[in-house]
Amino acid sequence: MITRFLGKVFSGHLFKPPQPKIIPFSAHGVGREGISPCALRVTQTLQRHEFSAFVVGGAVRDLLLGRRPKDFDVATDATPEEVRELFRRSRVIGRRFRIVHVMCGPETVEVSTFRGTNPTDEGDERVADEHGRILRDNVFGSQEQDATRRDFSVNALFYDPATQEIWDYHDGVADLGKRRLRMIGEPESRYREDPVRMLRAVRLAASRGLEIDPRARKPIRSLAGLLASVPPARVLDELLKLLLSGHAAQCVAQLRREGLHHGVLPLLDASMGQPLGERFVMLGLRNTDERVLAGKPVSPGFLFATLLWHEVLAAWKGFEGKGEPPVPALYRAMDDVLKTQAGKLAIPHRFSADMREIWAMQPRLLQRSGKRPYRLLEHPRFRAGYDFLRLRCESGEVDRSIGEWWERFQRAGEAERAQMLVRGEETGRRRRRRRRRRRGEGGATQDQGEGMRDEG
Ligand code: ATP
Ligand code: MG
Repeated sequence: MITRFLGKVFSGHLFKPPQPKIIPFSAHGVGREGISPCALRVTQTLQRHEFSAFVVGGAVRDLLLGRRPKDFDVATDATPEEVRELFRRSRVIGRRFRIVHVMCGPETVEVSTFRGTNPTDEGDERVADEHGRILRDNVFGSQEQDATRRDFSVNALFYDPATQEIWDYHDGVADLGKRRLRMIGEPESRYREDPVRMLRAVRLAASRGLEIDPRARKPIRSLAGLLASVPPARVLDELLKLLLSGHAAQCVAQLRREGLHHGVLPLLDASMGQPLGERFVMLGLRNTDERVLAGKPVSPGFLFATLLWHEVLAAWKGFEGKGEPPVPALYRAMDDVLKTQAGKLAIPHRFSADMREIWAMQPRLLQRSGKRPYRLLEHPRFRAGYDFLRLRCESGEVDRSIGEWWERFQRAGEAERAQMLVRGEETGRRRRRRRRRRRGEGGATQDQGEGMRDEG
């Protein structure tokens, strides 16, 4: 009664909260069978206890696009504690904003309480840095506010599995129909609040076949530098999502078009500057995309090893040019490249350990005499090292015959293997002996690998 009265008094200008468009099943066609069993259970339980509960965000967007969502998020007006009480297998996580993970079997659903756009109660927090980046926002709010603080209209859709309706506050369904990625609110300030949204824009556009709305696209180039103020671990998370999206090649191409790669992928600056490096990186990305789309596992270490390889090569040549023997020169080059990266992108140790192994195997793969190929086959990471070599061959950096040799060697029987061994190949020890004999003759060595071609 009172609300209705007040609503009339303020006649819908300042005080009437925006109403969502409620779109029925008949108009959008997304049935509840597309929702995972765990997300269904979560929304049903919450609704049975008089809370509102919706599947929200990326899952609704992807269902509307006819894609199977990777995971499901639920938004509710229940507080994290209230959610926690309803589900035995659940835990509260998150520092920036507390959310609840509800587990059913192998599936986990993320349940978050509607977030507000403004501080309301005492104790609410919303702290920004000097660029406008929000450092903490722990404010609960209404469903409408929750929609408004999401990034793009197509990500702000709420789906009620009980009624099969979509609640749409920002015309996300229409935008999706037009394949348009439109920022909610004023794009520049939304990017300033959280520069990672620029990466999200590129990833979502490239991976979902959407076009970034011109208003949302325009400020990106000039704001790209803000990514430097984001904690490296968060940038890495987003970058991994992008590289493992199954559309990495398109995403990276678009990052470059938007001028975003300098900040995020400094590793690409050098490699992409020259044709051989660029060809290698793009081959690596396309290869990863094929694996992801075929449901095969991909190793982030392998991917980062690919992105940085041509920097390692350049540094390696540099050290060799100063007279360092090939293998120590390679190890120094690896250290150098990883150290330079460490300041920009927080590559975790588990990835960099893989990268080192893959790189260190490369000169060993060029030696095809004696016992060494047999030993290398036993290496636990042989497969990764070999796949990497094949990419190098394909890009034109290394003679194809070497990759083909290894392919045959792996499949061959004992007798054939013995025949395949390259005779008279110079071993490291022999080479050093010869060099010692020639003591005094010039410094630079040319033999980082007999199959290696020059950059060009
Ligand atoms: P995907 O799952 O494919 O990575 P997504 O859009 O679901 O895409 P999530 O990171 O899972 O991405 O985020 C879930 C939802 O949370 C988004 O759809 C969006 O509504 C909201 N969201 C995520 N990140 C941000 C952000 N930086 N700013 C505002 N809203 C965000
Ligand atoms: Mg998601």
